[in-house]
Amino acid sequence: MTEQSSSPRVAVVTGAARGIGAATALRLAADGYAVAVVDLTEEAGKETVERIAAAGGRALAVGADVSDAGQVQAAVDRIAAELGAPVVLVNNAGVLRDNLLFKMSESDWDTVMNVHLKGAFLMSKACQKHMVDAGFGRIVNLSSSSAQGNRGQANYSAAKAGLQGFTKTLAIELGKFGITANAVAPGFIATEMTAATAARIGMEFEAFKAAAATQIPVNRVGTPEDIANTISFLAGEGAGFVSGQVIYVAGGPLD
Ligand code: NAP
Repeated sequence: MTEQSSSPRVAVVTGAARGIGAATALRLAADGYAVAVVDLTEEAGKETVERIAAAGGRALAVGADVSDAGQVQAAVDRIAAELGAPVVLVNNAGVLRDNLLFKMSESDWDTVMNVHLKGAFLMSKACQKHMVDAGFGRIVNLSSSSAQGNRGQANYSAAKAGLQGFTKTLAIELGKFGITANAVAPGFIATEMTAATAARIGMEFEAFKAAAATQIPVNRVGTPEDIANTISFLAGEGAGFVSGQVIYVAGGPLD
């Protein structure tokens, strides 16, 4: 376990039961962090925790809806008590409620805003106190290439663009406390989220991925590990002069 002062460093990853969040939790555990695996239920996070333990790491499954202020505060209090004060936060929890604007319901809009934007706000607010006390912190928010606009995703693209402004503001406010904030904006990553999109438009996932790959300069779709690798860099001590950035991890140029 990597040590900061006398205590192990603690990282929190939301939406870490599967996909990008699970890969990130595994990677940060391999990097030496004790990892809080936050997902909607404690049960959902157990598999990730077991995979981390099997690889020799330390993790704790914590159930919380990141869009609920009371559940977020209780989760962060529990993490601080059982693992230690969190100094790395990855705001990864996410949902899709895709639809063309004229069919998008108010509930589709609110759900996406609440999980992505309000969730990142609540988690960051609850964790920053521990980071300020430690004089060190790393916040990484999951944006998306969809922040640049994507048909059927008025809610999601607005939330992911919003997260970029949120990230830059955190970088400005928290920098003097040794805390950086950055956003990682993935392109097409093969997860249950993109599998669900394929199902929604009536395509086989393999064909959907193959079609996407033809539009990507490196000629393949991304993996959760592609994103975890970038988050690992941003979470590390060596990235202390990188703050307020949006890093597109999309197999080609986006800005
Ligand atoms: P995923 O496979 O759908 O995993 C998301 C996880 O977040 C799930 O375990 C989900 O739980 C959890 N979650 C949803 N709402 C939550 C809430 N309110 N509180 C706590 N946890 C919650 O998604 P992914 O593809 O790994 O994506 C991870 C992040 O990357 C998301 O922010 C996504 O928008 C972003 N991203 C993904 C891609 C891509 O191509 N996959 C591209 C760009 C950006 P349930 O299973 O119970 O819903």
